[in-house]
Amino acid sequence: MTELTHNTEMSRREFLVKLAKLIVILGASPLVGELLIQDALARKSRRPLNLNTRSSFIDPSFNRIEVWHYTKLSGRRIQCFICPLNCILEDGETCFCRTRTNYGGTLYNEAYQNPCILQVDPIEKGPFYHYHPATKTLSLGLAGCNLRCIFCQNWQISQKKPAETRNFSVPVEDTPSLASTRDCRSITFTYTEPVVYSEYVYKVAEAAVSFNIPCQVATSGFINERPLREWCRVINAFVVSIKACNDSAYKRICGQPMSPILDTLKVIRSENKWLELVYVVIPTINDNIKEIGGLAKWISSELGSEVPLHLARFFPAYKLRNLPRTPVKQLEDARKAAQDAGLKFVYLDNVPGHPGGNTYCPGCGDLLVERVGFKTLRMKVDSTGRCPKCQTPIPGLWS
Ligand code: SF4
Ligand code: SF4
Repeated sequence: MTELTHNTEMSRREFLVKLAKLIVILGASPLVGELLIQDALARKSRRPLNLNTRSSFIDPSFNRIEVWHYTKLSGRRIQCFICPLNCILEDGETCFCRTRTNYGGTLYNEAYQNPCILQVDPIEKGPFYHYHPATKTLSLGLAGCNLRCIFCQNWQISQKKPAETRNFSVPVEDTPSLASTRDCRSITFTYTEPVVYSEYVYKVAEAAVSFNIPCQVATSGFINERPLREWCRVINAFVVSIKACNDSAYKRICGQPMSPILDTLKVIRSENKWLELVYVVIPTINDNIKEIGGLAKWISSELGSEVPLHLARFFPAYKLRNLPRTPVKQLEDARKAAQDAGLKFVYLDNVPGHPGGNTYCPGCGDLLVERVGFKTLRMKVDSTGRCPKCQTPIPGLWS
């Protein structure tokens, strides 16, 4: 820290690289930003939102909502159709994703309007690199997840019930004004798995439409087609995290098969939504370069060569604390394999200051966006989304 604040010879870029590395070492923890917004809200409560009551979840029934996409079965049992698990729950039972409980034959979501994460982030943290770049977004995350990833960076909230996390109370109708008063261009559902609180996602996104605030989702894509298409009515963009290149590695990493995620990606593209992909390269688990090249080929042919792929450096976390960080050389080799497979925008994430974090024109190779971590240093794409030098269209939303 002393070095960061007192070295007057340090250039702005060097400072940002060091700062970004520090943030990455902290695991890009949501808790850091969470504390910041808490502090900001405490000092600057611009309106009487119930946001400074960040206390224990005292009454779990307070924000309960009857869920969508389920059916009632005999004997007060129900079946949920949100994700491919299609759980059948007995009366009184709480589901695998920890957010839904069958009370007397009616299925309720207990995470409604109670985010445990509420913070302002750079949109690049999504990571969205081609979508309203260099703007701020209001990030929301609620407890629970329908996957069990062994490397989860946010397991303290994703592997918990809403009653076990400390939550804000954020009514749907307050979210657009909360975003705009914090100078946020958009709202992002992230950090845990938005699929398990899909009703809140939909309602917030619907409310944001009339304020012209776009909403986006960062998800692992384990969702059934019907609720996903419903989301697409109100959600503008998606980041989907792909865990592995084949089914057996997928099951090993997150406990579920790969094919539903591939189906999700095709649906998002068929709905013409903006899509970026993340792949955390985990040493010895999913780092086979040939397989990553094969995945990139599939992305290129099935989704399009212009879909950005973020190859992210793994940091030891949760049940994978025994593994080392991904060597940068391994990431560079994976990036080359993905580029050789035809993808035009392949990024290296969590390696601040690496040129692989920049955007280059696929037409003339010119540097278009220079980034350090989540910070944009220079951006040359014009507002019509073209390279100013050769006029090649750069996919995304650049205004
Ligand atoms: S969302 Fe939860 S309850 Fe519904 S099918 Fe998936 S894991 Fe089961
Ligand atoms: S899907 Fe995301 S939030 Fe859920 S366990 Fe995996 S990494 Fe964690």
